[in-house]
Amino acid sequence: MSSKKVSYFYNPDVGNFHYGPGHPMKPHRLAVIHSLVLNYGLYKKMQIYRPYRASAHDMCRFHSDEYIEFLQRVTPQNLQGFTKYLSHFNVGDDCPVFEGLFDFCSMYTGASLEGAMKLNNNCCDIAINWSGGLHHAKKFEASGFCYVNDIVIAVLELLKYHARVLYIDIDVHHGDGVQEAFYLTDRVMTVSFHKYGNYFFPGTGDMYEVGAESGRYYSVNVPLKEGIDDVSYVQVFKPVISSVMEFYQPTAIVLQCGADSLANDRLGCFSLSTKGHGECVKFVRDLNVPLLAVGGGGYTLRNVARCWTYETSLLVDEAISNELPYTEYLEYFAPDFTLHPDVVSRQDNANSKQYLETITKHVYDNLKMCQHSPSVQMHDVPGDAFPSQDGGGHDETDPDVRVSQADEDRRVEPTNEFYDGDKDQDKVGDEAS
Ligand SMILES: [Zn+2]
Repeated sequence: MSSKKVSYFYNPDVGNFHYGPGHPMKPHRLAVIHSLVLNYGLYKKMQIYRPYRASAHDMCRFHSDEYIEFLQRVTPQNLQGFTKYLSHFNVGDDCPVFEGLFDFCSMYTGASLEGAMKLNNNCCDIAINWSGGLHHAKKFEASGFCYVNDIVIAVLELLKYHARVLYIDIDVHHGDGVQEAFYLTDRVMTVSFHKYGNYFFPGTGDMYEVGAESGRYYSVNVPLKEGIDDVSYVQVFKPVISSVMEFYQPTAIVLQCGADSLANDRLGCFSLSTKGHGECVKFVRDLNVPLLAVGGGGYTLRNVARCWTYETSLLVDEAISNELPYTEYLEYFAPDFTLHPDVVSRQDNANSKQYLETITKHVYDNLKMCQHSPSVQMHDVPGDAFPSQDGGGHDETDPDVRVSQADEDRRVEPTNEFYDGDKDQDKVGDEAS
């Protein structure tokens, strides 16, 4: 198979946000991943962009104006003045107000949106945004550490050019925000594999949630029990996705690669290894459909970093060593300092072979009800979210081409961080902290 053109979106500031002391969501993981990606040399195999930052207007393509205005205005300092809005917008404990909250949302959302635009314009075959994938955010409120649903906004952009978009979610939690957004339409099929039962967050995602109205049978849920291992997971994932492809025939795919489905996640309860998780990513890559890969959950930092670094290597189709390269974060990976440490799971696999066969059969029977792909009429295609300077042409130029002058003025890092010149050797990896 010929290798694909990959665009990777990373804002060096996105790792500097803090949800607060003790909060399991750590944007710092993004800096660690980026450092590994650079030091493994994977930047040579893809175009790296400092992404567009989404505006409030972009966010309001999905979210309500009042909610986005609230996110724009609230700060840890003026919180007192917003007390009645906090519960209204579900902001507080799980989804705290932290310094720079709106900037954080604007960075991760802009990266997914630009990824979708690059795919629409055939500038790449695969777009990667590990800072995105915040699948729980709802139209009117925050949920599960997610404020703005970058996935929904990216899918809406893809729908300008694509009749049918497939969303696949391998986070340990149900992809409820994305499912809800497209529950009534056949233009997006959502497929979520997740832990379900015993009040596990968010509590939705039973196999009987199949969509409604025109969207009936276009929401697919694969509820799993705790402790699922690589063999069992892949045994369900591959046939389900193959049937989805057969019946739905999407022309674009968004893959949410939540890494809280890995063994020993701080919040998760599955037993996947990075290889098992990556096997799903590789399978989706090999479907040869334009692909936007985003991050999501993942709360044991060293494992998330291993997982998305490995998956970057899979997406660019470049084998990388099991021995981690030197980075300023090397100590996080003690004692083995490897990409694929042995998995010792705390959980027994509660999914019997029979249980997994039953769900797979149920999904297949529902998919048959979709019959063939709907012949959606595309008319009045709206314009792109923001002007693209590279049109549909080749883009071999400066990754920072769309950085505004104001952003440019604020930059302190050298502009050569993505180049492999001899002089950079000792600097690579110093940029993200
Ligand atoms: Zn999750």
